[in-house]
Amino acid sequence: MTTKLDAGISRRCFLAYASAATTVALLAPRKIFAQSDGLVQTARKSAAAATVTAQKLRGNVSVLMGAGGNIAVLPGRDGKLLIDAGFAGARPKITSALASISSGPVKHLINTHWHFDHTDGNEWLHSAGAAILAHANTRKHLSNATRVEGWSFTFPPSPPGAIPGEVFDDEWTVEVNGTTIALKYYGPAHTDSDISVHFTNADIFHVGDTFWNGYYPFIDYSTGGSIDGMIRATEANLAKVTDTMIVIPGHGAVGDKSQLAFYRDLLVGTREKVAALKKQGKSFDEIVAAKPSAATDAKWGNGFRSPKDFIGDVFQGV
Ligand SMILES: [Zn+2]
Repeated sequence: MTTKLDAGISRRCFLAYASAATTVALLAPRKIFAQSDGLVQTARKSAAAATVTAQKLRGNVSVLMGAGGNIAVLPGRDGKLLIDAGFAGARPKITSALASISSGPVKHLINTHWHFDHTDGNEWLHSAGAAILAHANTRKHLSNATRVEGWSFTFPPSPPGAIPGEVFDDEWTVEVNGTTIALKYYGPAHTDSDISVHFTNADIFHVGDTFWNGYYPFIDYSTGGSIDGMIRATEANLAKVTDTMIVIPGHGAVGDKSQLAFYRDLLVGTREKVAALKKQGKSFDEIVAAKPSAATDAKWGNGFRSPKDFIGDVFQGV
C-alpha cells in the first residue's frame, strides 16, 4: 500500500502554519518563543551534538542509543531493518554507527509511534532506501499538523518521504533477514499510535515509549495517551515478557522483566497516591508538595521529566 501525498498539499499546509505562527507572534511573543526555542528545538539541537553508541544484544540485533528514542537494528541479506529513526540531526552519527554494524543499506524502518524523537529521521532514511511501516495513527499524526500541549509545540505535517507507506491497525508480521518480527498495537497508551516489536527468533522486545527505563515517562494526552493507558500497556508487556527476554525501552538502558515489573509498580503506586489526594480535594500544587513519588524521585526524576512533570501527567488522568 502506497501513500499518495501531494507535495503541494504538504507545502500549502506548511505555509498556512507559518503564517498562523506569524500572526501569533504579533499577538503573543512569549508563545512564539516557546514554539521556536522550547523543548522540541532544544532536543533537536542537542541530538545533533550527542554521542551515538551501538550495543550488541542477541541474534544479530543491536541497539543505537543517544540519537532520540532507542533504535534497534537488524542487519541481513534483505538490508538493515531499523526500529525507529531518531533525530534527523543525528544522521551523520547514526550513519557511522550503522556502518560499524555492517555495510548493508537500510531497507526497512518501523516506527514505534509518531513522536519526533522516533520519526524525525524518517525522511532521510526513506531517501536512503527504507520503506516505512507503522500504526495507522502514526501516519495520521505525521500527515497532519499535530499539537502536543505537554511540549507547547505544534508539529507541521511531515514531508511526504517521512510518511509511512504501509500501516496496520492491530497486528502485523514482517519476515525479514530470515527472522519473524511480530508487531502489535497497544491501544491508547503513551500516545494513540504505540506498537510493540518482537524479534521472535532473538526474543528481543522493543516496547517503544510505553517503557522508560530509569526515567519518569512523558504521557502525551494531546494524542491519546493517559496514565491508565500507560499502565494497561505495561501490564500487557509484563504478560508477554519472560525471564530470558531482552526488553528495549523507548528511553533508558536495555532492560528485563524485573525492571518492567518495578516500572509497573511505580506507575500504579503513583497513580493511586495522586488519585487519593485529588479525591480529597487537594490542588495540583498541594499534591506536588506531598511528594507522592518521593521513593523514586532521586533516581527517576533527573531525566527528561521532573517529578513535577510526571505528577502533572498522572494528575491529568485521574
Ligand atoms: Zn514518545
